[in-house]
Amino acid sequence: MSDCIFCKIVRGEAPSWKILENEFVYAFLDINPVSQYHTLVIPKKHFENIFDIDDKYIMEISKVLRHLSQVYQQRLGINNLQIVNSNGSEGQQDVFHLHFHIVPRSLGDGQNIQWRTHPEWRTQFDQWLEELEL
Ligand code: AMP
Ligand code: ZN
Repeated sequence: MSDCIFCKIVRGEAPSWKILENEFVYAFLDINPVSQYHTLVIPKKHFENIFDIDDKYIMEISKVLRHLSQVYQQRLGINNLQIVNSNGSEGQQDVFHLHFHIVPRSLGDGQNIQWRTHPEWRTQFDQWLEELEL
């Protein structure tokens, strides 16, 4: 993907603040951080999102997500963080190269992910499972 910004970062054609790199995964600071050490973890090969990533890469990304979380805890004392991943434009994905955000959180950081819940939909659960046919 020649014009993908994250592919350019992996190839060293665009600047980044690299946290970690291995054969499969690249991790770097988000250019618009919402908290200190806000990090993006991406596959070095181009996949659009969760719908096309392969087994090997998603596994390697998972390992790095855990590893970096533990490193941030041990080195930086970060005991609270959110791991966020968006897929598809209606799923609020903006860069179409799969990425996971690691967002360290702390009391009074001014951030707040809030979901609108629908407990009234519990009556539909049985029907949802039937339609899914798994
Ligand atoms: P999303 O909305 O989940 O697709 O997030 C895309 C993220 O990529 C945003 O948080 C951007 O700040 C970040 N981003 C976009 N371009 C760059 C870049 N060149 N270097 C680092 N982060 C970037
Ligand atoms: Zn890419």
